[in-house]
Amino acid sequence: MAAESKGRQRYVVVGGGVAGVSCAEELARLSPESQVTVVSDSPLIKAATNVVQQSRVLETFDVEQKQGSYLEQRYGNVTVLAAHVTSLIHKEKVVETSDGRRIPYDKVCICTGAKPKLIAEGHPRVIGIRDTESVEDFQRKLEDARRIVVVGNGGIATELVYEVKGCQVVWVIRHTAICHTFVDEGAAVFFLPHLHDDSGCHGDTAELRKRTKYVCEGVGEGREERGEGEKERIGSALGPDWHTGRQMKGRNEGPTHVQVEYEVEVKEILTASQVKSRGLQPSKIGPRPPEEPQLGYQWPIFVALTNGKVFGCDLVVSATGVFPNTTCLTSSAGQTEVELSEEGGVVVDNQMRTSLSHVYAAGDVCTARWTHSQLWFQGMKKSALTSVSSCLPM
Ligand SMILES: Cc1cc2nc3c(=O)[nH]c(=O)nc-3n(C[C@H](O)[C@H](O)[C@H](O)COP(=O)(O)OP(=O)(O)OC[C@H]3O[C@@H](n4cnc5c(N)ncnc54)[C@H](O)[C@@H]3O)c2cc1C
Repeated sequence: MAAESKGRQRYVVVGGGVAGVSCAEELARLSPESQVTVVSDSPLIKAATNVVQQSRVLETFDVEQKQGSYLEQRYGNVTVLAAHVTSLIHKEKVVETSDGRRIPYDKVCICTGAKPKLIAEGHPRVIGIRDTESVEDFQRKLEDARRIVVVGNGGIATELVYEVKGCQVVWVIRHTAICHTFVDEGAAVFFLPHLHDDSGCHGDTAELRKRTKYVCEGVGEGREERGEGEKERIGSALGPDWHTGRQMKGRNEGPTHVQVEYEVEVKEILTASQVKSRGLQPSKIGPRPPEEPQLGYQWPIFVALTNGKVFGCDLVVSATGVFPNTTCLTSSAGQTEVELSEEGGVVVDNQMRTSLSHVYAAGDVCTARWTHSQLWFQGMKKSALTSVSSCLPM
């Protein structure tokens, strides 16, 4: 495909999340004579729509989930390929896909996002929230849950704890106050009572209260089906309104009880027999909830905390940040040519250039290495999203 475009600049963008799509759109718009190929694991892409420039540096926009054909219809010079990129061969200027395709480029932009950091990999009752499939998995498992443990104090954990109903929640945080990423301790104290159902606030119809608005064309619609052997693949990250229109209800009746465990970390994930054989006593929630299920050792999974408490539960949500997804830049021997930061993100300068010539990166996969404004910080080793358009001076 790209070989036919001899003489035209061949831009390849890896990833169909909001970073990859914004990058492809800007390239298509500013360089209509070039050939832009978006290669993404998922047939669904995330596009920024209704972009309004509010001031010199402030924009508002919605993010919509669309079929890949949306981009092709909008821009005559964009092609979207649903394929998994396995490697980038820098000296040949080619990306390779798992179905054997070799796609040559003049410039490539890596926008492969990030993966949730899980406190226990591969455990069916320890889950992370990132894409549509993971949130649907959570909803299914929650239906049967009497108690969940949520680990983490960032945006996803905070929203999840607020939204979940019909279930006891043990919220494990490292800090002295909830919602550490967004508010100071004083404000956290103000929000605390709102975590409980009986405050009259929990579960109100959500008002839009976020920086950006994500529009899903019907929750669950256009689900990214993954076959066997494709479980490693992830779809695009959800966004601010990820819980809107979704029922997140466990199996308890009555008010939701949230117990916050402050200044602790998870020491271990244990089975009931491990808890018993070590002579540990399962901790109780309370003293508030009268509906405490007296399950003792009968919980399917236990979470041992650094404060000595051991909570049994049905499900653990690990909302402890993300790893930049650089798999396609890493050889089977674990080597990577491109410079990565300590957190594993692809290091980019203020033009979104990586350490390799003709290779750029944008979005959650990046670590921004330029002098940051005092008003800007990269949350959870991300996101250079605000600077997507600066990948254009390539
Ligand atoms: C639940 C949740 C709530 C959030 N809330 C907010 C919020 O309120 N405000 C905010 O600003 N941000 C929020 N974020 C973060 C925001 O969604 C991300 O920063 C943003 O979506 C990242 O976009 P991205 O394009 O870099 O990555 P992604 O959206 O992760 O896209 C990566 C893309 O790359 C593809 N891909 C990966 N590997 C390969 C490969 N090897 N080959 C081909 N394709 C590949 C994937 O399929 C995907 O299409 C939230 C995130 C989550 C999960």
